[in-house]
Amino acid sequence: MNIRKTILLGLLATGIMTAAVYTGAGAKVENAYAATTGGHIVCIDPGHQAKGDSTKEPNGPGATVMKARVTGGTHGTTTGLYEYQLTLAVAEQLRKELTARGYTVYMTRTSHDVNISNMERAQYATSVGAEISVRLHANGANSASTSGALALAPSATNPYIAKLAPASQLLSSKVLSSYCAATGIANKGVQANDTMTGINWCTMPVTILEMGFMTNPSDDTNMANSAFQQKMAAGIADGIDAYFKN
Ligand SMILES: [Zn+2]
Repeated sequence: MNIRKTILLGLLATGIMTAAVYTGAGAKVENAYAATTGGHIVCIDPGHQAKGDSTKEPNGPGATVMKARVTGGTHGTTTGLYEYQLTLAVAEQLRKELTARGYTVYMTRTSHDVNISNMERAQYATSVGAEISVRLHANGANSASTSGALALAPSATNPYIAKLAPASQLLSSKVLSSYCAATGIANKGVQANDTMTGINWCTMPVTILEMGFMTNPSDDTNMANSAFQQKMAAGIADGIDAYFKN
């Protein structure tokens, strides 16, 4: 390797180091994106990544139950789009929409080639001082006729973040109803879920929005469309506005 190459690689390494955030637990999380405008602070987590990681991590703080760091996600049976591609595309539009509305926005990732576990995504939201965490996912089902959106929130008996259950359920309800109003996607309701590592490690109100079913031709085709994604982002932003105005 010549000197020029060595210097270039050194600069690249420096860039990578300055883009990293080290959480209290010592896990390295990519500081993928931060747009500061001074308003409420929102962390967006585009679900999944190019490759899942079946290495285990605790399901919550102090948990003995261990779950895969991050799963591979589903894909569009009509469009062929992967869930990790869809979630990032919508997240990018949501970031633009929220920033335009005056929010300070952080994203757990802005590329596909990362390895950030669900626990680390929650810890990242804490490390940036996020007031809420909005996690974007899409669903898959055995039946192609299953369609619609739903949101997941911790229950009042969650062993880790029961105190945040009412606010998380409110956030979930506001985001889901605004999202469905903006997109016309059917509202399948807010469901209590205490098994999600990325919820259980959160220290702020959190929602998982399952934006639609990638195994349903109509949901899949709509969600893959860029103009439709703008409606999705505007709907989610409307829900976030409604949550903070509550
Ligand atoms: Zn998912």
